[in-house]
Amino acid sequence: MSRSDWQVDIGLELHVQLLTNSKIFSGASTQFGASPNSQACAVDLGLPGVLPVVNEAVYEKAVTFGLGIGAIINKRSVFDRKNYFYPDSPKGYQITQLNYPIVEGGKIEISLKKGKTKIVNVTRAHLEEDAGKSIHDQFHGQTGIDLNRAGTPLLEIVSEPEMKSSEEAVAYAKYMHQLVTYLGVSDGEMSQGSLRCDANVSVRRLDDETLGIRTETKNLNSFRFLERAIEFEIDRQITALESGESIQQETRLYDSIRDETRPMRSKETATDYRYFPEPDLLPVEIDDEYIDIIRKQMPELTEHKSERFMVEYDLNNADAKLLASDTALADYFEEVTGISGDSKLSANWIRVELMARLNRDSISIKGSPIPATETGYLISLIKNQSISGKIAKTVFEALWQGESSAQKYIEDNNLTQVSDSKELEPLIDSILANNPKQVEQYRAGKTKLMGFFVGQIMKETKGKANPQQVNELLNQKLNL
Ligand code: ADP
Ligand code: MG
Repeated sequence: MSRSDWQVDIGLELHVQLLTNSKIFSGASTQFGASPNSQACAVDLGLPGVLPVVNEAVYEKAVTFGLGIGAIINKRSVFDRKNYFYPDSPKGYQITQLNYPIVEGGKIEISLKKGKTKIVNVTRAHLEEDAGKSIHDQFHGQTGIDLNRAGTPLLEIVSEPEMKSSEEAVAYAKYMHQLVTYLGVSDGEMSQGSLRCDANVSVRRLDDETLGIRTETKNLNSFRFLERAIEFEIDRQITALESGESIQQETRLYDSIRDETRPMRSKETATDYRYFPEPDLLPVEIDDEYIDIIRKQMPELTEHKSERFMVEYDLNNADAKLLASDTALADYFEEVTGISGDSKLSANWIRVELMARLNRDSISIKGSPIPATETGYLISLIKNQSISGKIAKTVFEALWQGESSAQKYIEDNNLTQVSDSKELEPLIDSILANNPKQVEQYRAGKTKLMGFFVGQIMKETKGKANPQQVNELLNQKLNL
């Protein structure tokens, strides 16, 4: 098998659980972890005589997401019935959106290795209800059904088949995970099923212009499984095609214990589901005003923020991206800069001094033992030359170790930089007097000795002398 003879095409369908208190068409709770079947009401079960009512919160979330990826928000969207029988779906159908989804188009930019980026287009995102859960491992010879999940609101985000490797697919899924969490569209708890991924994978010869036949591996609930399932499928499909077999369009399951995918069922087509418009729900119509209100409530998106950081604070691309990548970190940076008055120096200190320590000790920025006010104050002292960068590092470490006030620590330890020439001059005079040989050599042209004199003075003052001031005074005295 030779992968280099083949190209890979991947499209992802992400099922994102929306962060709402109640279900998409009923008032039943969506709280995770309740005892089985305690949160499924008559509407979720589709009992006769009950009618679904759309939970407005799901529209707010879906529109927020659509705006977040620059998509078209459809002013009129329609719910459809997708008919199929499955034990954990007692209604015998799922309510979803087929031809008129709430969100269409949009795109995101994913980050890849070596600083590369790539645009991936989104086809659509539609609202639908989740099914219940079959539990196979709790009752001997029997399957348990927990319908708590039935009717939980989902946004299904469908990508174009534009990803070319498992790396790109994982980068896409991670980006979406971060985005929906950031926007408050979902809690993003993957261990609780809040984001599940179906991977559509096909392969084709390098010179083939049309896409190959795909398989769809369902319900991948971690980035690792997503990667492994795609890798397995790529190898399996290439091996099959190279030995003259054909690929069946089918739905497969990933078995994480054996690290392989297995066929689940042959692929249904839309006609198998006998879709028709949901007769119990009206089409949903929204207007520009509604969309505008949501737009105004949205937090600033990471991309906008990192661009703003470049323009407003003159940061380079890498620093801007890094600091904007997390809301709490971005807030910290803005607060520090506000106090210190020097954005570049602040970015540098946060990246080099603070983040290195946070990463080392696995602490999040929110748990930073050094508040932004102290970091900002410390940097302001460097900027106005009250202390040197080196001393600032000592103070920073003390703050990290639990010291609460930079100002107090500097006073207690008498660390303020000496830039008073009245204090420095006698010191410099005595050092020059004690090193006549070096003074002579300097005056004879060995100007490199400047460093030696500065070093001596720094040693005497324990690093507190203002280096610029020392340089000036030395220049005056040596170049007489
Ligand atoms: P369905 O609704 O039957 O799953 P769609 O046409 O909506 O089918 O496609 C679902 C996903 O499969 C999309 O993400 C799409 O990009 C992807 N896809 C479609 N054809 C291919 C293919 N040949 N190879 C890889 N992915 C594909
Ligand atoms: Mg599908």
